[in-house]
Amino acid sequence: MSPTADRYQRLTSTPPGRFLSSRLGLPESTPLRRYEPGQPLLVGPALIGGAPEHRLLPVVERVLKDAGARTVAEAPAEGAGAKLGAVVFDASGITASEDLAALREFFSPAIDRIAASGRLIVLGTPPEQAADRRHHVAQRALEGFVRSAAKELRHGATGNLVYVAPGAQDALESTLRFLLSSKSAYVSGQVVRVDEGGADAPKDWDAPQAGRVAAVTGASRGIGEAIARTLARDGAHVVVIDIPQQGEDLAKVANAIGGTALTLDITADDAPAALAAHLQERHGGVDVVVHNAGITRDRTLARMKPERWDAVLEVNLSAQERLNDALLLANLIGDGGRVITVSSIGGIAGNRGQTNYGASKAGVIGIVETLAPELAQRGATINAVAPGFIETQMTAAMPLFVREGGRRMNSLTQGGLPIDVAETIAWFASPASGGVNGNVVRVCGQSLIGA
Ligand code: NAD
Repeated sequence: MSPTADRYQRLTSTPPGRFLSSRLGLPESTPLRRYEPGQPLLVGPALIGGAPEHRLLPVVERVLKDAGARTVAEAPAEGAGAKLGAVVFDASGITASEDLAALREFFSPAIDRIAASGRLIVLGTPPEQAADRRHHVAQRALEGFVRSAAKELRHGATGNLVYVAPGAQDALESTLRFLLSSKSAYVSGQVVRVDEGGADAPKDWDAPQAGRVAAVTGASRGIGEAIARTLARDGAHVVVIDIPQQGEDLAKVANAIGGTALTLDITADDAPAALAAHLQERHGGVDVVVHNAGITRDRTLARMKPERWDAVLEVNLSAQERLNDALLLANLIGDGGRVITVSSIGGIAGNRGQTNYGASKAGVIGIVETLAPELAQRGATINAVAPGFIETQMTAAMPLFVREGGRRMNSLTQGGLPIDVAETIAWFASPASGGVNGNVVRVCGQSLIGA
């Protein structure tokens, strides 16, 4: 669905609309900058800084330099110089709560100088890997700081925290590039963990999937189609999978991206064997598996018929578990392998009328938790995206007030697009993201629901 479906945003983007909405105290909703090939990483210079004893700033400096971004030592004064494209602070050296004041000192003069669609990023050390109790407390505090600061940003700017394990600085680049770039347009208020892990920098950051094979379920339309197109853009050969009834649309997607269409109901008894055989025989394995197929069959619990319960649990959760088991048993996911699954805010916060869907999408997070250590041993990873309100056929069918509520109840005061979910998956899928394992990242514009 195109962003033009958001009439409120179109209206308030015009000068008279902007005047009216500010007079009436209505929320502003700025169209987000989204990725286009060849686009500069940032919309303006980056201000970077760090608390004493920091350990990640050299990586930030190098990545910004390699990406052609300019850095400045202090925020430009009001009316002087370009607004900041990014403000990045390395807080890894903060070992006691008294020293958290460094955050205020650094960000206070800078936050209002962040450009539209600019980026606020804080880097820290995972609290559970802190050297002592006081260090743990100080690092844990970063989460509340970043989530609150992200809510003070305006005009489509985002704020996120990255906890980088000791010794994992070399695995940080793919995450830093993603969060700085416009590929993370609808990701805000999130905490990402980066661990040590094979993180091969691709020869070309614009084609990280060159020579790799990806399989995407539910890829004939909506978010799945966007995922398939994005992985193909990144150089992968994509096997697109959907139910036979969607065969025609599926073939169109496959043709458009030079991929392969595989009609398969993932809940069928023979689906795990059929998928494993296809990937083995045609491609000798698979590098990226994206479990996107999903359905809703809403009813309140008192009126929930067994068919509705079973259908949702089967498609969204059990089928996915069986596919993973078959692919792992056949050793088709190996070194550099990436499994990515699509959860939902409904699986985190719960939704009235969605006990089946909520259970399935929370179960999906359980899949990530249980498989992450096993995949790490194989040199592979598993992560989940949890989309919030995304403009698709599903959300277009919602009643007007529910839809408007869903759209506006987030820090960016708008719905996300399928491409926003797809770009987040592409970051997880990158060979350079070997240190990103076991994460659940919400693509929700910092939704107020379940925050
Ligand atoms: P969609 O209905 O447009 O697409 C889902 C696709 O999955 C369809 O093409 C469908 O045919 C396919 N599918 C269903 N059952 C299948 C089966 N048994 N085997 C193979 N394919 C099957 O939905 P969407 O909005 O693009 O959602 C994609 C994913 O994102 C789902 O997992 C959904 O739960 C999740 N999600 C969506 C939103 C949103 O706002 N749209 C929010 C949170 C999570």
